[in-house]
Amino acid sequence: METTLPQTIATTTINPMSDQMRITASSLLLSLERPHLDINRKLRTPEDETKLSTMLHWISNVISSNTAAALSHDSSSGRLTLYLCSDSAHEASKNNATRLSDLMRKSLSGGNQSDQEDEYLAFVTDVCWERILNKVNHRVPRFPNVPRGADVSTMASVLETIIGLAEAWNAWRLRTGIPENSTQIMKMKQTLNHSQSFDTLKHCFEQVFRPLDDTEDHLQELRRLWRCCYALLKSDFFIDIFNSRWKRYSANETWFLCRVYRRIWRLYSYRRGADVLLHRGIPHLISIITQSGGTPDITVCWVPHESASTVHMDVHPDQLIFQIGQSRCWSHYSGDLSQDSQYTSEARNLWSRNETRTVHVHPMVSLVNFLYSSGIRVMENRIGTSRRPCDLCHYYTRSIRLWNFRCARSSGKFRVDWAIPRTLPVGGLLTRDDAERIIEEVRRYAESTAFDFLTPSWRYMGYYDHTL
Ligand SMILES: [Zn+2]
Repeated sequence: METTLPQTIATTTINPMSDQMRITASSLLLSLERPHLDINRKLRTPEDETKLSTMLHWISNVISSNTAAALSHDSSSGRLTLYLCSDSAHEASKNNATRLSDLMRKSLSGGNQSDQEDEYLAFVTDVCWERILNKVNHRVPRFPNVPRGADVSTMASVLETIIGLAEAWNAWRLRTGIPENSTQIMKMKQTLNHSQSFDTLKHCFEQVFRPLDDTEDHLQELRRLWRCCYALLKSDFFIDIFNSRWKRYSANETWFLCRVYRRIWRLYSYRRGADVLLHRGIPHLISIITQSGGTPDITVCWVPHESASTVHMDVHPDQLIFQIGQSRCWSHYSGDLSQDSQYTSEARNLWSRNETRTVHVHPMVSLVNFLYSSGIRVMENRIGTSRRPCDLCHYYTRSIRLWNFRCARSSGKFRVDWAIPRTLPVGGLLTRDDAERIIEEVRRYAESTAFDFLTPSWRYMGYYDHTL
């Protein structure tokens, strides 16, 4: 039930090197930018997400850690097609996709949901165990900001820091006299026979940061982990933090705990996505298909993906910044990086002339190009990805204005391996002019962002304009 469409679409080659070099160089400069908390955005609870976006995120994530996915529905036959693009289109990803589509086909034809839930979770455990194990047991999260003096170099010290903060929060709660009402924690407290709900909170953190045991039953180990993750995500502790009730939103404690929350959420998302798909997504898909009179079925289509390419860096950071300044018609811009930026020395060390870098077309870019040029409309115009899209993928997708593709909020990161597609399928709605316009826009966007970051004083002098 798996098809790969032949690459019969005429292609045109965009002159990529100069644009590519400038995009890579700008992204490199932007890698110096320190992460920041967006104070206008409070963390939402995952329930706010639409079903399809959660499903597509989960589907791409379980297939591989770098996959893009979209779903289309043909109303005449009732058939669903899952379009996938992955930069690791090796056997493992293909097998995962085949197993998943078999599972989905089975649940589309009805059956007992709770039996199926076990099958989905067994599938997740099977395909993702190594990944989750590695995340929990070996990868100490990196924290750009930590509460003063905290040691976060090992998993044990990270846990100690979290428990310390939770204790401080608990003391604050007791002082303010706000009653505890996180139902998940209260429920667990009863089962665990803890005298205080704080002990349950602490227990959950310990479980989430406890190494997974490879010799135990994997699914059981993950169920324990997911239960504790869920209780934590729903705890008053995190609710108080994200409502700025305890500590200001810009406090170092909040920064640090945002990262902790994100890690917990990522671990939990493997389970959450399966739940959403089975209990909300599949019934929704069935109702759409039966409304149009079709018989539910699903096919997987792998979208072709370009191999990696290399780019020569033929300018220095100073020259690049100078050129961007000039191209923005600032004839009076002297182009001296050292006058403006606190990152000057780091910027100059980033690359040397004629250095070669490897770049990849991100799966999301290949997928939207393919869909657009083939005239394939997907449900909600939505593209899902294993991780949040990088800033350039996000921008690229938005540049195809006519179709208004939707994707998750950007990670805000410029990835230095981002590649302009070497060949663009031109057909249907994607004309050569379109393609050139998009690439031009992406380049200008990357350059403007890098310039504004490295020459902050210019931003306040009225020259700030992305449209130039
Ligand atoms: Zn990307």
